[in-house]
Amino acid sequence: MRLVLVGPPGAGKGTQAERFAREHGIPKVSTGDILREAVHSDSELGRQVKAVMERGELVGDDLMIDIARERLSRPDAVGGFVLDGFPRTAKQADALDEITAARGPVICVEMQVPDEELVRRVRGRRVCDDCGANADAFEQKPGELPDSCQHTERCREVGPKWVARSDDSEHVVRERLKIYWRDTRPMIDFYSSRQTFRAIDGMQTPEQVREALDSAVASALGLPAGQLKTLVAQKLGGEAAAPSGARPATEGRRP
Ligand code: ADP
Repeated sequence: MRLVLVGPPGAGKGTQAERFAREHGIPKVSTGDILREAVHSDSELGRQVKAVMERGELVGDDLMIDIARERLSRPDAVGGFVLDGFPRTAKQADALDEITAARGPVICVEMQVPDEELVRRVRGRRVCDDCGANADAFEQKPGELPDSCQHTERCREVGPKWVARSDDSEHVVRERLKIYWRDTRPMIDFYSSRQTFRAIDGMQTPEQVREALDSAVASALGLPAGQLKTLVAQKLGGEAAAPSGARPATEGRRP
């Protein structure tokens, strides 16, 4: 199973990627998380990308492609992965094709959410300042922050320190959306003519989005929705299932 989630900042990619990866026993690879971790630990990479991220701009393609290539070649990603935040440009999409060429088809699901809703969501988004975990990933009641994140020993002992991401201010989010429409949305057309592309409506509850995503992935694999989990459990995902001949379609409601 190789799943690429694409969509604007705040569409819910991270939350769904985390859940999908957990349920399917494959790693979630988030380039945003990798970069934030590098900034947090003040590594050479972190120092290189910090200012660019804080302005809401994109980190250079060559660097991002190297990061993705290295991460996707690790043993845990060989059997499958969920990608969140990569590719973001046509050049990155080409590179992903090349990286995965010998592994079989990549399923691409676009999560569609209108800009004004994205700005509203991102303003309320919180991450743990210590481990970078996203509060959304813990599936609390709306408006409540979870009391655990538990990604690091410190978080387990003292609890999470929920803060707004430094690139989630309204001004920077609007800049990120501008860049999304300019660089990333055109890239999605690169995928949309493929049989393994699906679009889903991200303006639903997380549970409804989860169902739409599962149906979209099953449909891209040419499977009835209920059969996906069994297939993945049998480790037959991506490798054995040929993509369906169905035309790309929007699953669930459109925005
Ligand atoms: P978002 O919430 O906007 O989807 P991410 O957490 O995926 O944000 O990424 C945060 C920031 O990290 C981006 O605004 C960008 O500066 C940088 N970044 C992450 N992935 C990429 C990529 N594939 N190409 C270029 N820059 C990236």
